[in-house]
Amino acid sequence: RRVRYCIVGLGRISMDHFMPATKMSSMVEVTAIVSGHPEKAKRQAAMYNVPDSSIYTYENFDRIRDNTNIDAVYIALPNGMHAEYTIRAAQAGKHVLCEKPMANTVEQCEAMIAACDKANRKLMIAYRCQLEPTTLHARKLVQSGALGKIQAIESANGFNIAQGEWRLNRKLAGGGPLMDVGIYSLNACRFIAGEEPGVLSAYSSVIDHDGRFDEVEENVSWTMKFPSGILASCNTTYGASMDGFYRIHGSKGTLHVEPAFGYQGIHLTAHLRGAEAVDDLEQEKDPAQFTRQADYFAKCIVGDTKPGPSGEEGLRDIKLMMQIYRSAGLHS
Ligand code: NAD
Repeated sequence: RRVRYCIVGLGRISMDHFMPATKMSSMVEVTAIVSGHPEKAKRQAAMYNVPDSSIYTYENFDRIRDNTNIDAVYIALPNGMHAEYTIRAAQAGKHVLCEKPMANTVEQCEAMIAACDKANRKLMIAYRCQLEPTTLHARKLVQSGALGKIQAIESANGFNIAQGEWRLNRKLAGGGPLMDVGIYSLNACRFIAGEEPGVLSAYSSVIDHDGRFDEVEENVSWTMKFPSGILASCNTTYGASMDGFYRIHGSKGTLHVEPAFGYQGIHLTAHLRGAEAVDDLEQEKDPAQFTRQADYFAKCIVGDTKPGPSGEEGLRDIKLMMQIYRSAGLHS
């Protein structure tokens, strides 16, 4: 039997990527929808054969408890709503796949983990890159010692944001580009180094005084020192197009992944002393990453295993991002 997802929030990531991905899967399906827009919900429901009786609003969301055709929810709401809907879903007896960043605060993350533990439900944070083959290849090259001793990591990820996005609203977004896209650089550094940063320091700035950055930061730059001595320097912005990449400098060579965080075409090149150059271009097409992610969580549910990108993993990034904000003099 397929694992049955209830989609919470009909925005870009759910409608354009996650939901189409379920159609490519033999392990999962969409059986319910939660939306504040009845017409949009009806249109999407028709595309996925979801019956009217399985369309919910944010107000009657808790009724999913009575729907035996839902195993898990996929939460694709603004960041500031992740905690509330994760907790309500767990209390309704459903497993939770929640989008990144996990939540706005450490306290919210802890409450999400506690609610899922109490209800004996699985909680996964949608770090699709942690399941993506090219990222795993990069991690293997680093952790096998093929690059020698890693000295430095550089990474960046950002874009030029339009006015009017919920991402510019502090309550809904929790912060600016760091929470939204800088998190990819942060998570990649930790995941690929296989270590947790010991100390860090950060700066932030606003260059465009055009109303977009009244509530959240425009730029953040931070450096982390890992226990082995690796120094990772990262940048994120909402003021310029900054294609996601990371570059890793080891005593035996250099590894470069760019694009690193997109939905397809992840490209790794590596030059290792005494070895042939590595050129690994992922051929899969969007929404394959999302199919893999939906299937992975389904396997965790069916096999009763804890997801790698767990709630605790999501919490680690939130703790570090709060440290970055404090170091930059923000979010006191
Ligand atoms: P979006 O703006 O396209 O969609 C947000 C959805 O939330 C919409 O359906 C909107 O109607 C609904 N919503 C409910 N209450 C709302 C409110 N008060 N204000 C605004 N919207 C409200 O956003 P998105 O890009 O789909 O992002 C959703 C989540 O997915 C975010 O947490 C984001 O960080 C995450 N995301 C993840 C990836 C990834 O690759 N994993 C990519 C993009 C976004």
